[in-house]
Amino acid sequence: MVSENEHLRAGESREWNWHPNLPVGVSPIFSWPPRPIATLKWFTLYWLPITESMIYALLALATWFFLVPTLEQMRVLEWSWVLQLWARNIILMTIFAQGLHLWLYGWKKQKDDFKYDRRGLAKKNRVFLWNDQYWDNVTYTLLSGVTIWTFYDVIIWLGYANGWAPLITFSDHPIWFLLLFMIMPAIQSFHFYWVHRALHIPWIYKRVHSVHHRSVSIAPWSGFSMHPIEHIGYMSLLLLFFIIPAHPIHFLFMGFWLALATATSHSGYENLVLGEKAHLKIGTFHHQLHHRFFECNYGNTEMPWDNWFGSYHDGSPEATERVKEIRKRMHR
Ligand SMILES: [Zn+2]
Ligand SMILES: [Zn+2]
Repeated sequence: MVSENEHLRAGESREWNWHPNLPVGVSPIFSWPPRPIATLKWFTLYWLPITESMIYALLALATWFFLVPTLEQMRVLEWSWVLQLWARNIILMTIFAQGLHLWLYGWKKQKDDFKYDRRGLAKKNRVFLWNDQYWDNVTYTLLSGVTIWTFYDVIIWLGYANGWAPLITFSDHPIWFLLLFMIMPAIQSFHFYWVHRALHIPWIYKRVHSVHHRSVSIAPWSGFSMHPIEHIGYMSLLLLFFIIPAHPIHFLFMGFWLALATATSHSGYENLVLGEKAHLKIGTFHHQLHHRFFECNYGNTEMPWDNWFGSYHDGSPEATERVKEIRKRMHR
């Protein structure tokens, strides 16, 4: 941890083109003593007025009304609706990842404003398929990632259509409907932290997770670029909908949160600059630190798992030194 007078303000440093105020903030929900005002503010800024989470919630709502085959149709497994879901997921993933890629890296619309790393995507590097990070990341994302996401989609939709998964409606359970939106990011954070920690066990890391970590300087397509086994583990959270009573909109939201949000969380930029003052927070320096220093920040900022289990990197040089030591011990 950094001491009071060592707080670093947002800006450029030797190591970064840009970084947010340090130490990296995490959700205050579990602070002790409690911080009710900070917690309320955190929830408000997390959802309102237009934030990334709100965009996925609205997209889930629109998808449910316009882009989902009827439950009647999905009662029996048939290629027609499976392919429809697959095509929809490919299109959504491409809109998010390629849209961000073009805006930030292709057309360089905001130059290096709010860009963390000075480097860009790797070219002529033999660790990547076709020696090119962009095409490698696109391939893993669309071929493996979207296919496995769709596979889980199909299982859960069959569950909803046949009554194997508990379904609620907004009119019957309005409070639970809204509450579930509030707690889903915390559940996701828990699942992600532990799956991710397991992926860093050296034996598994070498065979599976190293595929994701070849991208040290990350960009939108890097987020969902994973080994198929990692996709199976990472997306397995969707099976939760066989247990918790939810509306399909929650399930759609979670799918988007897991898949589409990897494009923003790995964008390499903190904010999307859309106008003079219109900034949409997209990136997360917390995970950017994970890609540079590996054995730290296995979770995300929604829950303080890293702080509780001693793997938190706050962005300071002291934390970097500590993490380097841990890395040496783990991989010797
Ligand atoms: Zn990552
Ligand atoms: Zn990792």
